Amino acid sequence: MARRPFVAGNWKLNLGPTAAHQLATALREGLADVSGCTIAVFPTALSVGSVVPVLKGSGIAVGVQEIEAKASGAFTGGNSAVMAREAGCEYALVGHSERRQLWGETDASCAAKLVAAYDAGLLPIYCIGETLDERRADRVDEVVFRQLEGGLAKLAPDQVAAITLAYEPVWAIGTGEVATPDQAQAVHASIRGWLRERYGAVADDIRIQYGGSVKASNAADLLSCPDIDGALVGGAALEAAGFAAIVRASL
Ligand code: PEP
Repeated sequence: MARRPFVAGNWKLNLGPTAAHQLATALREGLADVSGCTIAVFPTALSVGSVVPVLKGSGIAVGVQEIEAKASGAFTGGNSAVMAREAGCEYALVGHSERRQLWGETDASCAAKLVAAYDAGLLPIYCIGETLDERRADRVDEVVFRQLEGGLAKLAPDQVAAITLAYEPVWAIGTGEVATPDQAQAVHASIRGWLRERYGAVADDIRIQYGGSVKASNAADLLSCPDIDGALVGGAALEAAGFAAIVRASL
């Protein structure tokens, strides 16, 4: 079965409610004619409420950038997956490298958050990827396999089947340094091989996005690789025409 491409925009800590509303409106108009691709945007939690009504019925889904493992309670500043779902989110990012580096997210905490996402009815995108030192030490497969092993540990097979993975080499995120299509394809193929060994044929249905300085000018080459099923886009997702061009490159 051919995998439907999935292009997601991670707006990070940018665009308050007014600016997020404007970008969502431009995306709704700019992508109105597109079908055949799953599209989602991840505004900051404070802007979800202004984006959801604009994108309702547009075919562009909304996601939350971060969730807690617990649905409610004494977790000051946290986002609840259940509340994100109630607010209109359909997806959740888990394990983004910025969360791993700046907030100490671990594979074990990601495992709990992936369960929380499914329990709340959110579809997770689980981010994995190596640092530059790990790549230089020839440890890419070891690192991403460890992240897969730890992160997926608590999921039922049908939940693994429904997950989206984002391979994001840390050295390529927000740096302008992009993995070559050959470098990215090689890791995507390794990831799919690992999934096939663990979970069987379902590996061929799991979408694996590439993330790391994707932009309109490099998207087509990356997205034409056989095991790259879409993109998780940061900086270039903040501008409607550029993001729309990446979406079109996935078709
Ligand atoms: C990201 O935030 O997931 C990302 C890939 O960012 P950028 O596209 O800016 O490298």
